[in-house]
Amino acid sequence: MMTQNSMPIGSYRPIGRHEPFSFACHRGVACFTCCCHELELSLTPYDILRIRQGTGLSSTEVLARYVIIEQEVGDSFPQMYLTMVDDGAASCVFLGSEGCSIYRHRPGACRMYPLGRAAIASGDGLEEQFVLLHEPHCLGLMEPQLTSAHTYMQSQELAPYKSFNDRLAQITQHDRVKQGLQLSESQRQAFILALYDLDTFRAALLAGTITDAAGDRAVLAHDDEALLECGLRWIADLLFAS
Ligand code: SF4
Ligand code: SF4
Repeated sequence: MMTQNSMPIGSYRPIGRHEPFSFACHRGVACFTCCCHELELSLTPYDILRIRQGTGLSSTEVLARYVIIEQEVGDSFPQMYLTMVDDGAASCVFLGSEGCSIYRHRPGACRMYPLGRAAIASGDGLEEQFVLLHEPHCLGLMEPQLTSAHTYMQSQELAPYKSFNDRLAQITQHDRVKQGLQLSESQRQAFILALYDLDTFRAALLAGTITDAAGDRAVLAHDDEALLECGLRWIADLLFAS
């Protein structure tokens, strides 16, 4: 199983950013798509933005159809998980006969596999750590092609995922959170709205029922990434400005 922005569960070892390892994944491997089942696949705000683009659905529809929202007792923030299908194999909802039906917009965790990346608050910034997951079913690890975490992340076009996930980590790992911040129900709803239900957030911004002094409404009306940046800024102000 894999989780986004956390270390994978299972047998794994720490690996340096430029340390070589053998891996290749392609349609020719005998295990093709076998890693798209029985996942506890945590979704970040940027994952949901991309799923929304990949499916053509609104963020509200994506949340309703494909996302389970959970919050453990004691956790400050809710977590979003991708739904699996009740087909006897717990297949990912986006797994089709030809592979991933939203491949161009697949979540960051799917792109990272078999690597895990953690961004840990350190001083004024975030420190990156990587692990390499070893699961017996993944035959890609037997392929002769050498890569590294650095090269692999580039090949998987992970830069925007990493950038937005690190911005999210600055909220979820804020000092006030480490000191035990608990959100009120209205703050919890605002967190989900601004980061995960972007179409509803956009409508509220354009209608003026939510205001963000730094946001340019003309840009926010059509630019999804600017909208998510606005959501991150707005929720950080809401939770930590006072
Ligand atoms: S989103 Fe695509 S790549 Fe990720 S688990 Fe589902 S089918 Fe597999
Ligand atoms: S198990 Fe490994 S090699 Fe097989 S499809 Fe998944 S990532 Fe690729």
